[in-house]
Amino acid sequence: MRDCLFCKIINKEVPSEIIYEDDLCIAFKDINPRARVHLLIVPRKHIPTIADLEEGDEALMGHLIGVAKKLAEKNECKSYQLLFNVGREAGQIIFHVHLHLMGN
Ligand code: AMP
Ligand code: ZN
Repeated sequence: MRDCLFCKIINKEVPSEIIYEDDLCIAFKDINPRARVHLLIVPRKHIPTIADLEEGDEALMGHLIGVAKKLAEKNECKSYQLLFNVGREAGQIIFHVHLHLMGN
């Protein structure tokens, strides 16, 4: 998707601190961390918001959660938050689905 920052990060057109990649998703450090560990887990598929999910996307969303769990373990997070902001009024500023992992 042209003009999408996270698609550009996925395509390596914009640099970021990528810490995990597989066929379905990528994870990188949030540029403005709000916890000791603040990672964004992002599907390669451009989906603007959770509200735009289609039938068949459930497995992909489950995969993001599984990756978040593994990254939380790898980063020794004792406890953590997993968050999707859905819609501008909820604080979503990047319209490419991303799961926040915030852990301490
Ligand atoms: P949201 O408010 O849920 O849309 O979250 C977007 C997140 O993307 C924010 O926490 C930003 O700090 C983060 N962010 C914005 N630009 C970048 C970037 N170039 N690299 C990494 N994270 C970014
Ligand atoms: Zn995108």
